[in-house]
Amino acid sequence: MGATYNSEILIVGAGICGLMAATELVAAGYQVLVVDKEQTVGGRLATRGIGPGLADYGAQFLTARDRRFARHVAAWQDAGLIFQWSTGWSDGGMLRSLFDGHPRYATRGGMNALAKRLAAEIETAGGAIHTGARLALVRVDERGWRASDDEGNRYIAETLVLTPPVPQVLAMLDSGGVPLARDERGVLQYIRYAPCLCGLFWIDGGVNLPEPGALQRREADVGWIADNQRKGISPEATVVTVHAGPAWSRAHYDDDDGRVLSLLGAALRPWLASNATIREAQIQRWRYALPTILHSEPFLCAQGLPPLYIGGDAFGGPRVEGAALSGLAIAAAIKAR
Ligand SMILES: Cc1cc2nc3c(=O)[nH]c(=O)nc-3n(C[C@H](O)[C@H](O)[C@H](O)COP(=O)(O)OP(=O)(O)OC[C@H]3O[C@@H](n4cnc5c(N)ncnc54)[C@H](O)[C@@H]3O)c2cc1C
Repeated sequence: MGATYNSEILIVGAGICGLMAATELVAAGYQVLVVDKEQTVGGRLATRGIGPGLADYGAQFLTARDRRFARHVAAWQDAGLIFQWSTGWSDGGMLRSLFDGHPRYATRGGMNALAKRLAAEIETAGGAIHTGARLALVRVDERGWRASDDEGNRYIAETLVLTPPVPQVLAMLDSGGVPLARDERGVLQYIRYAPCLCGLFWIDGGVNLPEPGALQRREADVGWIADNQRKGISPEATVVTVHAGPAWSRAHYDDDDGRVLSLLGAALRPWLASNATIREAQIQRWRYALPTILHSEPFLCAQGLPPLYIGGDAFGGPRVEGAALSGLAIAAAIKAR
């Protein structure tokens, strides 16, 4: 028999969108519960150990081009949580055209440490966060929102905020027959994501990536290679993150692990010293890595239902910054309601 949790606001997803929304709402005095299906917070702000090293395997850095987000980023930088890593990337050739002067920030201890810090602050301020809770069923009645997770726990809330990738949001709403308006469903069904296949490689020997230890090739089969040791998050070991581009990831998504890692490892080879060896390789498949067709607004608020807000990086703008702005906009809308 599971437990029942009551809250004013139930936020599904402890990625940057859900965490930014929760931070603002808890500060405003709302009773907030955040749930996430994973054992740890962060979503695509993802960092893991490999050998004695550490690697970011989702978002690699964040930008702060919008002043509403830049305010938070400046505070995190002042607190020593994040640091400026670069102002752009080489494409691995002689070109430096990708150095556009905009700061890219990384997090001390890996990108996931930012999510953990925000989660700790939310809990200190009185909010609650449940990890390992996959919401499977969402229903609505005249009193508000009802949901349940895989473990049989039940959730009751006046306001529901959904921040997972949109196909997962639609599955959740459809599971309980939530009657979305036709145009709202149309907006959600139009959103698309590109996948990303990621390889993590623990290397014995030298890695010769250009400054600052990473390269980016937007349309290439392998779009990103980064040395986590030179980034400063893996002092104990050289661990390289390799991200395949969207087309390559789509074509190879269902290949077996060994084949994907061997192809990604071959793409890394030219950047390794001749005597360097791969000690261990790990794979991560991101089905919904980056939105390719977005909704133009920072969130969708359903009409004719108890308060329901849908947000994340497919709303308003992509990446960490877009997702954070979506969370901030949702919190502002709830406060103004
Ligand atoms: C490989 C890769 C590289 C990237 N590189 C960069 C980069 O360098 N810079 C950048 O700015 N952005 C980058 N991004 C994008 C960035 O990571 C995302 O835009 C951002 O983190 C999305 O945040 P979010 O909160 O919208 O979603 P998410 O982080 O996906 O959070 C959604 C959360 O919902 C949870 N969830 C899903 N279903 C359920 C359920 N049923 N019940 C409970 N919880 C559920 C998930 O576990 C997840 O934690 C990258 C992404 C990937 C995958």
